[in-house]
Parts: sequence; C-alpha cells; structure tokens
Amino acid sequence: MLMDDARETLRSESINRRRTMPPVRMPQVSPISLISLLYALSLFIFYRQGFISGTKFVVIALIVVGSIAGFYAMFRLGYHARFREPSLMLPQLVVSLGIMLGVAWMERATQIALVPFMLIAFSFGIFRLTTSSLILLSILCLSTYLGIILQRGQSAGFNDMFRADLVQWCVLALTLPGMILVGKQIQNMRQLLRATRYQLEHYEEKSVRDELTGLYNRRQLQTELEQARLQAGTRGVPFSICLIDIDRFKQINDTNGHLVGDTILKEFARTARNTIRDTDILGRYGGDEFMQILPDTDVKGAVMHAERLRVYAHFLDFQKVLPQKHISLSIGVAEYRPGEKLTDLIARADAALYRAKQLGRNRVEWSAEQVGAEYSQQ
Ligand code: GH3
Ligand code: MG
Repeated sequence: MLMDDARETLRSESINRRRTMPPVRMPQVSPISLISLLYALSLFIFYRQGFISGTKFVVIALIVVGSIAGFYAMFRLGYHARFREPSLMLPQLVVSLGIMLGVAWMERATQIALVPFMLIAFSFGIFRLTTSSLILLSILCLSTYLGIILQRGQSAGFNDMFRADLVQWCVLALTLPGMILVGKQIQNMRQLLRATRYQLEHYEEKSVRDELTGLYNRRQLQTELEQARLQAGTRGVPFSICLIDIDRFKQINDTNGHLVGDTILKEFARTARNTIRDTDILGRYGGDEFMQILPDTDVKGAVMHAERLRVYAHFLDFQKVLPQKHISLSIGVAEYRPGEKLTDLIARADAALYRAKQLGRNRVEWSAEQVGAEYSQQ
C-alpha cells in the first residue's frame, strides 16, 4: 500500500514531466519519399540509354514529385495527425511501391531497378509497420508483380524473357520474407533496448526518492544542496534551508500506532509539496524531519515561507486519525554563507530548530548570523 502511494507519486510526476515536454516533430519529407525520388532519378538513366521515352520519364517524374508534394502538404497542414499512425508510413509505402510496379508494368526494361528499390522501400517499413501489415503488403506486391509477368507472358509469349522475369520474381519472393525477418529481429532488439533504458530511468528515479512520502531522500538532498551551493557561488545569489520537524511525533506514534504516523508523514509531505514554490526543493531528511532548500532566497524570505508552511500544516485536519486533530511543526532556518561547509549550514539550521523546540515548539527560528552584505557586493 505504501509502496503503491510512492509509485503513484512517481508516476504522476513523470506524467507531468511528459506533459511539459515539447511535442515530437514529424519529418515533413520522409525517407520513403526520398527513395521514390531516387527511383525517379534512376529512371533518368533508362531514359538516357533509350530504354524509356522522354514523355514517359517526364510523366513518371511528375507522378513521383506530385506524391511527395501531396504527403508534404499533409504533414505541413497537420492532416497526418488525424490518422492512427501519424507517420503515414503505410500509405507512403503503398504509393511508392505502386509507382514502381506501375513503371515495371509500362516498361519491362525498368524491372532491373524494381527489385533493389522495392527492398529499400520495405526496409523503411520494417521499423514502423506491424508484421501483419508487412506480410500483407509483401503478398500484395508479389502477386501484383506476378500478375504483370503473367500478363506480359500471355501477350508476348512464354519465352526466355518470361522465364527470366519469373526467376527474378522467385528471387524477390525469397528475399522479401528474409529481409522482414532480419528487420523484425532488429526491431525487437531496439524495443528491448528502449525497455531497458526505461527501467534504468525508473530505478534511477526510485533511488533518489523516499519510499513512504515520494519526496527526495537524504542522499538526493545532499546532491541538491551541492547544486544550490554551486549556483550561489557562480551567480552570487543567496540560498537558504529550512529544517522542518513534526512536534512530538513519537507520542503520536505511541498513542495512535505506527500506521497513523505514516499517514501523517505522507499527508504532510503532500501538503508541503503543494505549498512550496516550484523552484524550492523538499526532501525527507530522516524520520519526522524534512528539509526544504530555497534557491535565490535570503533568511528573511525563507523565514516567511517557513512561517507559511507552519500555518498550513497546523490547519491540516487529521480528525479521522488523531484525537487532537492537528499536528504542529518546528522549523529552523539558515542562509548559506559563501564559502561555508554544507555541514556547517545544516548545523546552524539544526541549532535554530533546537531553539524552536526549546522555546515551546510550533514556531520558526533562524540562524541570526548576518549574511546579506557579502552577496550584495558581488
Ligand atoms: P520533538 O517534538 O522533539 O521533535 O519530538 P518527537 O517525538 O517528534 O521527536 P523524536 O525525534 O524523538 O521522534 C521521532 C519519531 O519518529 C521517532 C520514530 O519512531 C518516528 N519515526 C521515524 N520514522 C518513521 C516512519 O517512517 N514512520 C513512522 N510512523 N514513524 C517514524
Ligand atoms: Mg519530531
């Protein structure tokens, strides 16, 4: 149950992070369009060598350019987003293969170019299309190509040329499944790699979090403190920390049970996270003690924020689990002094927290050492 809550926190945070990520840009001229263009260019050689007429070459080139322009316009105008597969890989592949087969039907001589270009076109589909779409597309292509060969054999006779065409068809029919198989193997490996990377990220994220509250753990707080100190050093701005401790938490545990204590820790963490500024960092320092790091904030500002958090926490209603209904916080605040050790900074905040406890709890105390002047000079 506790693990579930922490997991939920991680999940919602990663969803939020994903929401703020910029949208993925779709390529507006896809590689498959470029293959069609290369195919058209190869036909130029056939034209130059006198295998196809100039008119036919121009018509084919116009069809290729027209199809590329059509898909480009769809991407540009955002129509691609209406489709289930916005990369439009299947329609682009169908158009491209359709043009190649059409040309092969019109001019037998261009068949030499058909097989390699067809294989290149399929290699693009392998990473985007489902296996069933690929198999269907292969069957469609092979049967159309066979139809073309048979139709030609019927009209020109089943001679040596027909047999040569049939051999070429057989070679294509054997290489295409092999290629799809290899491609799928590569695709599986890519998927495995992606899943491993995701898992690694997940574990990385987990290793910096406290399981009960989902807040940063003590180790991560140390890293964040180092970061804040680095920032303060390079930018010449102050930063402060608050050590926050729940008052008489042991007593709460002893009278109401450990589970009630856990509920209070979680609820407090949730409220505190929603109360602090986005730029502030909050973590569980240990037990019922939390640390807030406030970048760009001097001791005066930090005391103000600590006071606000104290009041918020005080008004949290625990009526269902606590006879006394409310909890209270004692907070010790300290501003970083340029050059001081982080352990000294924490010790000053801790001393202030100790004073808050001594002075009757439910209050904010701060380290009184003057620090502001050194920053304003930089
Ligand atoms: P003070 O007002 O002086 O802070 O008194 P306190 O009782 O809060 O102080 P103390 O540090 O003695 O008590 C902290 C308690 O927090 C002791 C420990 O049993 C309890 N605690 C630490 N971690 C957890 C936890 O994960 N869950 C629960 N339920 N209790 C915890
Ligand atoms: Mg306490």
